[in-house]
Amino acid sequence: VPTVNEMPHWLTKRAFLTPEREAISDGYRMWTFQELHERAEALAQKLAGFGVKSGDRVALLLYNHMEYAAFIHGLSFLGAVAVPLNTRLAPVEWAWQVTDAEAKVWVFDESFAQTVQAITLETKTLCLSRAEVEAASASGGETSLLERIQMDDPATIMYTSGTTGRPKGVILTYGNHWWSAIGSVLNLGLQTDDKWLACVPLFHMSGLSILMRNVIYGIAVEVQAQFDPAEANRAICERHVTLISVVSNMATRMLDELGEHVYPDRFRCMLMGGGPAPRPLLERCKAKGVPVFQTYGMTETASQSVTLAPEDSLAKLGSAGKPLFPGELSIREGERELSPGEEGEIAVRGPHVTPGYWRRPEATQQAIQEGWLYTGDIGYVDQDGYLYVLDRRSDLILSGGENVYPAEVEAALLSHPAVAEAGVVGEPHDRWGEVPVAFVVLRAGEELVEEVLIQHCRERLARYKVPVRIIQTNHLPRNASNKLLRRKLKARLVQEEKRR
Ligand code: ATP
Ligand code: MG
Repeated sequence: VPTVNEMPHWLTKRAFLTPEREAISDGYRMWTFQELHERAEALAQKLAGFGVKSGDRVALLLYNHMEYAAFIHGLSFLGAVAVPLNTRLAPVEWAWQVTDAEAKVWVFDESFAQTVQAITLETKTLCLSRAEVEAASASGGETSLLERIQMDDPATIMYTSGTTGRPKGVILTYGNHWWSAIGSVLNLGLQTDDKWLACVPLFHMSGLSILMRNVIYGIAVEVQAQFDPAEANRAICERHVTLISVVSNMATRMLDELGEHVYPDRFRCMLMGGGPAPRPLLERCKAKGVPVFQTYGMTETASQSVTLAPEDSLAKLGSAGKPLFPGELSIREGERELSPGEEGEIAVRGPHVTPGYWRRPEATQQAIQEGWLYTGDIGYVDQDGYLYVLDRRSDLILSGGENVYPAEVEAALLSHPAVAEAGVVGEPHDRWGEVPVAFVVLRAGEELVEEVLIQHCRERLARYKVPVRIIQTNHLPRNASNKLLRRKLKARLVQEEKRR
């Protein structure tokens, strides 16, 4: 007897409901849901031939392409757990994650073959190129594929971005992915002609969640190999994309590239998350009529946890919105819930929240208490319950007893037309404990007068938040999701100090 804890396999159901609909494309090729289903089933049979069974972890080191989706669903037909690997990591980092996940099989794109073959793993892991898997003959079609999905079963183990330290393997169940997709659609709505552009990495939650929505909603997805602002704009303007997921720095580049042009009306959502959304950028979007929605989420919450509603996108600019259906949000100081306006740690709860970290019971216990996931981020809610994310607790600068949130200082710097990118970190100071120091990347052709930029900040920020120094650089350290690595910036600052 079916319970709420199980349901027919998503892709089987989807291919039955809307077989002819466009499922996934890359700007050149296109598969319908029926084709995606056939490919995923065929892959499942091949993987079974290599010994993949229910519960096995299979690491995927794949670029952004349509086959990624076939592998994710293919593994689910076996009850195996997909472990997406970040393609931009160093070989030792892959080796660590593959070992940590105790992966039975590691599938990689051809171009990684040499690198992977040079790695010695301590685990018994079968390393296979994607071509080898695809060329294999099926296990004879004998392996019976799962017809139903158990919502409490793990679907993926995805490592966090490693912004604050060593990545942690986040276990996400089918139920987590399901509720994440449902929470999103109950907020943003659904149109049968929707098309979601995936130009964020599929190995991160922002990208993977698009593949889940793809089959659950029955909407089209375009996958792009890497982010290119012109290509993203072309997909929106010429190929009917209606929704896109971005981090702020991608949006900036898209708007720069768009120039005087505007997006078509059918483009209804630019979902901006993964990091702070600088106010000047949000205002620029607003002025240009770009339908930007700030969202707050993390790997641990299977992507969005809190998102602004369409009707609030202008009135509550700067807020990440309210917790999605049926999630909850609480601002806490330890176990104490704070009042609106008070700054504290953001905690979230709901069926989209991970049951815990893979093989990290202490980290799990520390992060999840009574169902509340303590995110390590600081924020507050206003009187109406809208969330404002301030920053990561670990990046907070304490200056003369006052909290300085680097994101706020960075936003002030970014509001200057000459500044393309900004990163702010604390520097030890005898009197104040710490003082903010800024790194900036200038727009092409611009020149920096430090004093001008400091004056610009003085006009926008309290005195103690104004950077004491501004260092010009050609690039800021970012990870594969384009996130600013402030810990690396801090290390750079120490280096600079030594040289001075
Ligand atoms: P790690 O946990 O390994 O340090 P990470 O936290 O960057 O890496 P993700 O799960 O990809 O890994 O990112 C989630 C984090 O991104 C959040 O905890 C938060 O710090 C940041 N973030 C996401 N959305 C927003 C937002 N709207 N505003 C500010 N920060 C955000
Ligand atoms: Mg994190």
